[in-house]
Amino acid sequence: GAAAGREATGRGRAKPRAFDFSALPVMKELQFTAAAGQVMGVDSPFFRVCEGRGAATARIEGADRINFSSYDYLGLNQTGAVLEAAKAAIDRYGVSCSGSRVVGGERPFHAALERALAAIYDAEDAVAMVSGHATNVTTIGSLMGKEDLVLCDELAHNSALEGARLSGATRRSFPHNDLDWVERLLETERSRFGRVLIVVEGLYSMDGDTPDLARLIDIKNAHDCWLMVDEAHALGVLGPTGRGLAEAQGVDPRSVEIWMGTLSKTLASTGGYIAGSSALIQVLKARAPGFVFSVGLSAPLSAAALAALEVMAREPERVARLRDNGLALRAALRARGLDTGLSEGHAVTPVVLGDSPTAAAVAHLALLKGLSAPPILHPAVPERRARLRFFVSSEHTAAHIERAADIVAEAVAEAPEITARLGLS
Ligand code: PMP
Repeated sequence: GAAAGREATGRGRAKPRAFDFSALPVMKELQFTAAAGQVMGVDSPFFRVCEGRGAATARIEGADRINFSSYDYLGLNQTGAVLEAAKAAIDRYGVSCSGSRVVGGERPFHAALERALAAIYDAEDAVAMVSGHATNVTTIGSLMGKEDLVLCDELAHNSALEGARLSGATRRSFPHNDLDWVERLLETERSRFGRVLIVVEGLYSMDGDTPDLARLIDIKNAHDCWLMVDEAHALGVLGPTGRGLAEAQGVDPRSVEIWMGTLSKTLASTGGYIAGSSALIQVLKARAPGFVFSVGLSAPLSAAALAALEVMAREPERVARLRDNGLALRAALRARGLDTGLSEGHAVTPVVLGDSPTAAAVAHLALLKGLSAPPILHPAVPERRARLRFFVSSEHTAAHIERAADIVAEAVAEAPEITARLGLS
């Protein structure tokens, strides 16, 4: 009755109060997106459940699909040696390190993993942390300060931007891969700043292209800057033995001050790392809050990453298969008239589709036809550059690749019927 009515408004069910989470502006955006999906008859493409490993084919939302949505580039998350190493490490050390490495959490496998990571880059040392994202945030956030400048490629990962923001440094992003722009900026503005850090990716995660490392090294040397390369998607992918951008481009990796990478892609684990001079690693291990005040990387995750590095070194044919598959997928998509954007045909290739509703519709149709390739929508990419993104693995077959390209072409042809329901076309 009347009391219940009062209670309903009193609790703000009808009209959320300012401090309710449901009153946050982002909720409006989410509701708008959900409503658009409903009009189109397209389920949300996010949080799709994969029941098992994200292998070349996987059981996703109750059916077997060809899977291009997992970044297990060399199939090491399906490899006995890696899985067994993680299990053996649990038996010996337990699941958790139960403390920060600074106080109580240090274990023998930490140094073993870090030696192996440093060796990839001929670096003096390396440090591993519990998250790739946190590694970028805490490394950039603690190395740079108010007097400094962080120059990020405009397509650099969110974690680098967050680190730059945390640091309090001046931040500038430069047009993607436009090193003339970087050079011009440094010529006029270098002297205004203390330290300058240039941040790029070894292989760009949305577009699948690479920067010119030798030129970056010339520029940072000429202007006395540090260079940081995020190899999240480059390790295991670029170079004849998968050692990343420097190996691929024939550059001495010791010319780069800060190599960053993740354990979560090729290395079939979870975590992040920095490799570089022993002074850099000492500084981070003493002062980076995301390392000092966080638990040590766990035994199974460390052991899996170390075993994955060993398999990668022992079986370079995986890297070769991945390279062939990456080129084959790009060729197959292009042969069907699809726009693969800036992709160089490595393990990451987008199919650029235009607006977000179109990309969502294509992803939906593709899933129904047996292909999982996630849509990347605005605001993750500019609205006119919404896309499907493919992560290729060494374990995909030629048949997976050809079938996937056929499915995308069919889905693109059928998508306008779905988006028309929004009244956009
Ligand atoms: N850097 C790049 C370029 C990435 O793509 C990602 C995430 N995929 C990260 C850093 C963060 O790594 P993680 O997911 O391992 O935390």
